[in-house]
Amino acid sequence: WNIKEGNLTLLLSSCYEKMLPIAGQKKQELAALFDRDLELRIAMDKDRLEQVILNILSNSVKYTEEGGHISIDAKKEGSLVNIIVSDDGLGISAEDLPRIFERFYRVDKARSRAMGSSGLGLAISKQIIEEHHGSIEVSSALGEGTCMTIQLPLITHRGVAGIE
Ligand code: ADP
Repeated sequence: WNIKEGNLTLLLSSCYEKMLPIAGQKKQELAALFDRDLELRIAMDKDRLEQVILNILSNSVKYTEEGGHISIDAKKEGSLVNIIVSDDGLGISAEDLPRIFERFYRVDKARSRAMGSSGLGLAISKQIIEEHHGSIEVSSALGEGTCMTIQLPLITHRGVAGIE
């Protein structure tokens, strides 16, 4: 782990830029709703957190039809920040929902395999987020879409709290 203080907004912007052409290939609209000037200081392993954000955005692209809509937002909530990735894609049934963070769990095995999926992405993402003292939650409805929320602690006293 290489935990350093950094501005989450910059990381989110760079993930957004990386995903734009990929969403574009499926004619999906990818929107960054957060304020680019918002300062979100957190203690992070930048490469690993990037891996999480890209995993969640790529899932939205993968499991949303052509022409669908995906957004990424970041909102401060006291000493925490919520990163919210929403899509209006295939969604996940209530039955599958509690299991998607398990290792090797894929909702539609045949389809997932065809898309080159392993079912490991979210399990690893959850581990990385927990290592950052955060949490990751999902809400979804089949046929309507999915919303992933990552909650992370902010550094409130510059250069003191949260750095390991
Ligand atoms: P995979 O490599 O199969 O995408 P993940 O661990 O990233 O593995 O995701 C686990 C399963 O959760 C996926 O197989 C998929 O069925 C479901 N899933 C994840 N994100 C979404 C999403 N945004 N919309 C619909 N289903 C999703």
